[in-house]
Parts: sequence; C-alpha cells; structure tokens
Amino acid sequence: MALTIASLHSQLLIILVGSLALFLAIIQPSLAHSRKLIVESPEKAADSDRFGSLDDVRRYLERFGYKEKPFEYPNGATGDTLTTESSLYEAISLYQQKNHLKVTGKLDTETAARMRTPRCGMPDIIPSGRKGGSTAAGHHHHGTSKHGKLLHVVGHYNYFANMSPWTKSEITYSFTSTVPLVSLENLRAICNRAFQRWAAVTPFQFREAGEGDPEADITIGFYTGDHGDGVPFDGPGNVWAHAFAPQDGRLHFDGSEQWSTSTPTLDETDLESVALHEIGHTLGLAHTADQDAVMYAYIGQGDVKRELQQDDINGIRALYPSK
Ligand SMILES: [Zn+2]
Ligand SMILES: [Zn+2]
Repeated sequence: MALTIASLHSQLLIILVGSLALFLAIIQPSLAHSRKLIVESPEKAADSDRFGSLDDVRRYLERFGYKEKPFEYPNGATGDTLTTESSLYEAISLYQQKNHLKVTGKLDTETAARMRTPRCGMPDIIPSGRKGGSTAAGHHHHGTSKHGKLLHVVGHYNYFANMSPWTKSEITYSFTSTVPLVSLENLRAICNRAFQRWAAVTPFQFREAGEGDPEADITIGFYTGDHGDGVPFDGPGNVWAHAFAPQDGRLHFDGSEQWSTSTPTLDETDLESVALHEIGHTLGLAHTADQDAVMYAYIGQGDVKRELQQDDINGIRALYPSK
C-alpha cells in the first residue's frame, strides 16, 4: 500500500515536471524575445521592483513623454502608445540619450537605477505641434568666439512648446498650501532664496503677494494625490513636484514626500533644490539633458542643488535677455 502511494506520487511528479517543461517550451520563445529589454543583472532583481515588467517601463516612459512617435520625429505626430517592442526599444534609447546614459535600447542596470531616482513630474518630452521642430531635443544656438568666428554650440536646455513667456518685469507669488507640512515661515524663506537666484540672471523682480492670493502670478502649495489639475501626485517617492509653463503659474509640491528644509538626510528631498527647479518651469524652462543643471529632471533623496548652473543660466538668458 505504502509502495503504491509512493509510486503514484512519483508518477504524479513526473507528470507535473513533464507539463512544466512543456509549458516552458511553449512560452520560452516569447520570454526570450522580451528578455532582451529587461534588466540584465539578476543580482539587481531586488532593486527592480518598480520595473518588474515591461509594462512598468512602458508606463513610466509614456508618462514622461517618450511616446511611440515623439513630436520631434519628422512626421510631426504628437505621440502614441508604446505598443510594439521596437517602439519600446526606441523609447528607451531616446530616454538614455536624453539622460546622457549609454544608449543601449535596453533597460540595463544604469537605466533602471535612473528611472528609480525621484524626479519632477513634468514630462521630458513635450509635444510642440511644430512641424519638424524641436524644443526638447537639444537647443541649438550660435555664439561668437573672441575672433568673431561663428561657433555652433549645442546647449542642453529646453523650453516648453507653445508657451507664452512672461512679458512683465514684476512677477508676484503667493502660498496656497493645503497640507501643513512646512511652516509658512520656512516655506517663505526657502522660496524667497530660490526666486532671488532666478532674479539674479533675469530681468524679473519677484514679489510676494498677500497670503493665499489666488490672483498672484505664481501660486505655490503642497498637495497630495488628485488635487484638481489633472496631474495627481503619486504618494511617497518617484515624483516630488510639478509646475506649469508660463503664464499658468501653478507650482505644486507633493505633500507625501519627506521634505527637508535644512540639510536633507538620505531619505529626504531638499525643498529648496526642488523649489529652484520648479520656478524654472514657471518661467518657461523645460527639462535639460545636463545632469548638473538645476533643470535636470532628477534630484535624488539627500541631493542638494541650490545654485543655478551655466546651462540653466544660458537657457533663461536666451529666453529673457537682460541688457
Ligand atoms: Zn521638472
Ligand atoms: Zn498639481
């Protein structure tokens, strides 16, 4: 009796193993096909939770503007979903190019690590509707050398497409915060420092309007989840803030983040660095490919970027020339 059960068990086991092998043989070709794009080093598997599947990568890329047909493609299309593997390959390549990563078209370790870094919620690629034009693919401009020779310089900064840059010299701002995360006193001091950095390189003067004044040009506040502007925040991690192109003026911080108002620890986000970045958006700058610049999309936890870099200054000066 015992023998019979044992042999029955082993027969079952053989059947099970056999079916598993058959199942694997059937799905193997499609797995092998997809695996080309997935993280290559298994020891990093724990890190890849957020990008456990190609769908996660696809969603991430689409969210930040890497569509099947980015606007900069010659046909002028404004983008489509990443439905095929070749379009995903293209999108990953473009993402790597825009982030100055090695362009492999694959979700390699370095690329996955960048995607896991907390960032701004504004897309990197913004449809321009301009035929064959590009505002987000690297801004080309010309400079003149000391000897008067025309230099062709490729900058990294970008602008929002179809925006209306500010035309007045005094821009007002107010605090409309709903989540009491940071005292108004702290927020005011931090934003004031950030505005002064931009004032130093633009023709603008920034002045605080009355508290909560909805008529102010720029309105600043902390919000969580869906807060009525069509761009819900995602809770802790990933996206920390967003701000709209001029002359919209809305600048929102994600109230679910661990904000630092002094020196950030490794699990805090530096409010002043993010404020400086988001003010750049309210003035018309989009994301740059220059990783050192304030207008780069990523600021990791514990990172501090409170000074404008040359790329930021070149970008804003080209948009608003001072005398
Ligand atoms: Zn941004
Ligand atoms: Zn918002």
